Order: sequence, then structure tokens, then C-alpha cells
Amino acid sequence: MAFLLQFRRYALPFRSPVRTAHGQWAKREGLMVRVERSTGEVGYGEAAPIPGFSGESVEEDETAVRELGDRLEENQWTELPAELACLKQALAAAVENATDQKNPAPGLPGDYLPVAALLPAGQEALLKIPPLLEAGFRIFKWKVGVGDPADELGWLDELCAILPEGAKLRLDANGAWDRRRAERWLQRCAERPIEFVEQPIAPSMRGADDLLLGLAADYPTPLALDESLAGDGDVERWLGAGWPDVFVVKPALLADARTSLARLAAARATVVFSSALETALGAQSALRMALAWSGPARAVGFGVWPLFADRRFDGPATAPFIDRKEIDRINPEALWNALN
Ligand code: MG
Repeated sequence: MAFLLQFRRYALPFRSPVRTAHGQWAKREGLMVRVERSTGEVGYGEAAPIPGFSGESVEEDETAVRELGDRLEENQWTELPAELACLKQALAAAVENATDQKNPAPGLPGDYLPVAALLPAGQEALLKIPPLLEAGFRIFKWKVGVGDPADELGWLDELCAILPEGAKLRLDANGAWDRRRAERWLQRCAERPIEFVEQPIAPSMRGADDLLLGLAADYPTPLALDESLAGDGDVERWLGAGWPDVFVVKPALLADARTSLARLAAARATVVFSSALETALGAQSALRMALAWSGPARAVGFGVWPLFADRRFDGPATAPFIDRKEIDRINPEALWNALN
């Protein structure tokens, strides 16, 4: 059965610019889609490609959705080019919501998701961590490769010294290091409470895959793939390569996240679900996949809210756990209307 298709493009400023190894990021751009059956069922989805991540851009998504016109067949999203993974995911989610409204989260669900707190890059992390510990967080993510490595390694020791028993740090280099720098960091991370080091090497670096596999084999601290997983095909490729450590899955960036997650589950892979800094609309569908994940529940990388200058687009305020009820409370229709 066909759907009426609509879309709205957005550009939403962050409350404060997001600082990464790639520089400052001031506003989130993307689009929301809405589908409606002639019988009245409605579903929503969000396409929010990350600039520089996979090559997909909001402009391309907008062009493609305009070309679809105002009518969408149920499985038409599968015919879009593979490069438009975020848009495919958005249309698939919208169709699924409209088709299966009573049971939006199949699988064996939990009721809570543990959450990793995002620390600011640099020395500021040292000031932010005590109140977060007080609030009950035990997993912290710290962006590295942003400032001078000697400074950052010093702060790493100070951060580790503050952590109580059982608490852990995730480091995210966003591909900023070369082999030597990665090795220096991984030597320092051994015997420290580091849960994993995310994307030490950029996927675009020559021989990156072999280098990542080599580093994962040579050092005791687990590594995590994030930028290396820009689409469903990358998940397949790394499973095929026998990646031994963590897969950071941003469901928003996978055209067919359900199939990729089924493959990861079958391989008993370690999966960490993560935000793509999408609005609460896209986050709702990603968090439902995290709830339905059958493997061990690692803290999700959704400790991002408040995120937007306009609070209506935020998910539940960051806390050590996200309750299923808070995820169910996100109202896609209100977010769609807020773009009007
Ligand atoms: Mg990352």
C-alpha cells in the first residue's frame, strides 16, 4: 500500500558548538520525513548524515526525497542508492512506524539502558567529572586528539586518578592519530581503566584496516570502530575481517540497521549504541534498537542532551540510565510540528 510522503528540512543550532578532532560543529542539519496511509496511520523518520562521515549530504537526501514526490511505496526506500543510507533508514523507520504502530520495538527488550556521560574535550573534563560521578555515572567518554598530545596524556592520568573502582573511560580519537601516536596512547592505556579507545586511526588513512587490526591484536585495551562503520557494508566487511573488539553502531547512519544488528548478534559481536547527534525523533528509533539488543548492555553513547538551542528537539536529559518510558514519551509528531 502506498503512503503520502512529506519531508521537512531542518538546521538546528547546538546549544554550544560540538568540538571534535575535525573542528567545531555549530548546527545540525538533516530532514524529517512523514508518511501517511490512506487509512490514517502515520509514521516519522529522520535523516541526519554526519558531515564528512560517509559522504552522504543533506542536499543529496533532499534532492532524492524531492524526486520521490508525494507518494512512497512500502519498500521503495530499498531502491535508493546505497550512499543515501541515512535517508533510506529514515524512510524505513517511518514506514515501519506507520505499519506497526502497536508494537514499535520488537525483540527481547530491557527496561533501562545504562548511559555513558560525554566529557568535554581537553582539561575541562577534569572539572566536569566529579559532579557526574556524584550523579551516578560510571562510564565516561572523552574526546582526544583535539589538543597537544603531551597535555592530553597528562590529563588522562589525572582523570584516571579521580575514577573510583569500577568506573571507566572511553577515549575517542575520531581518527586523529597516526600509527606512532596511537601506539604511544595504547601503551599508556594498558593497565589504566580504559574501556576502549575509539577510532584511533582514520578510515581514510592508507592501510587503515590492517593497521587497526594490528593495533587491536598488539595491545590489551580494546579498540572500537566508529568512523570505520559508515554503512551496512562496512559492518559486513569488519565482521568478515574478524574484528575482535567493539563495534560502535549509530543506527541513524545505517540504511538497514536491523539486518546489520542481526548479523552482529549472530557473530556475538560487542556493540555499543551511539547517538549521531540526531534529534529525539531519530534517537527514539535508535534507542529502541538498543533496548532490543540481545547482547550485553554496554552503556549507550546517548549522554548528549541537552544538545540543541531549541530544547524541544532534545531527548531525555542525560542521566546514568534511560528508562524505556522516557523513550516511549518522545513524540515524533510534536517534533515534526516544531519544524513548521
Ligand atoms: Mg566516535
